Amino acid sequence: MIKIDLHNHTNHSHGQSSVEEMYQSGKERGLSVMGFSEHSPRPLAYSYPTEYRDHLTATFEQYINSVQALKSRAGGPQVLLGLEMDYFPAEEAFIRETLAEYPYDYVIGGLHFLGTWGFDHSKEDWDGLSDDQKRAYYVDYYKTLTRLAQSRLMQIAAHPDLIKLFSIDTFREWTREATARSLIREALAAIKANDMAMEISSAGLRKPCKEIYPGPVVMETARELNVPITFASDAHHHGHVAYAFDRLADYAKDYGYTESVYFYNHAWHAMPF
Ligand SMILES: [Zn+2]
Ligand SMILES: [Zn+2]
Repeated sequence: MIKIDLHNHTNHSHGQSSVEEMYQSGKERGLSVMGFSEHSPRPLAYSYPTEYRDHLTATFEQYINSVQALKSRAGGPQVLLGLEMDYFPAEEAFIRETLAEYPYDYVIGGLHFLGTWGFDHSKEDWDGLSDDQKRAYYVDYYKTLTRLAQSRLMQIAAHPDLIKLFSIDTFREWTREATARSLIREALAAIKANDMAMEISSAGLRKPCKEIYPGPVVMETARELNVPITFASDAHHHGHVAYAFDRLADYAKDYGYTESVYFYNHAWHAMPF
């Protein structure tokens, strides 16, 4: 049984539940370790058509304080202060400054933008693309993921095939090709070489791709390279904490995994599931 959920959002960004509501849900679901990983504020150049930036910026310190206060609460899961930091190759200085502001236990590196385009925002953006254009974005995604790992700024690679979100069929075809496999392998090797873990997330099951992040090709390669794993619901609502974790456990076991890791004050810990 998976007892760690390291990826939870709150109503300080675009989530619907408070820190307290998320925590209570983690407690009810019997989690031993619960990590809060709110989104990071992003530089202005990187914006979605609908934005939560102002609200997040205005209440960010409150988020930190609420999570810190839970750390000393007895009788529930061990609480960790995390962050889902957006990675932008051109903004490593910004990322470094942001991460230095608070004592995070761990940082999840999230790749949601290619250039200044938030590629996970709308299906319409993808519907207008040719297969070749989609493939070019997959290539860009895995090259950027390699850079994310090489930056050594984060401990966990979030949802490591999020790029499939709105084009699952084309993505599956692409992953059968040798060039795709070598790009995926390169990114995972960089994750491993730079002391990071890879996230297995149930969020994909709730999205149009209807598939766990990451899918089979990434999982097989990760196992071959012995990349450590974490588990994530990526909950934005208290009803989604530890979402479909039975399924995630079976899935990870099918690839030979028996333990997942977490980070307390950046130090590694492992727990069997
Ligand atoms: Zn994310
Ligand atoms: Zn997230």
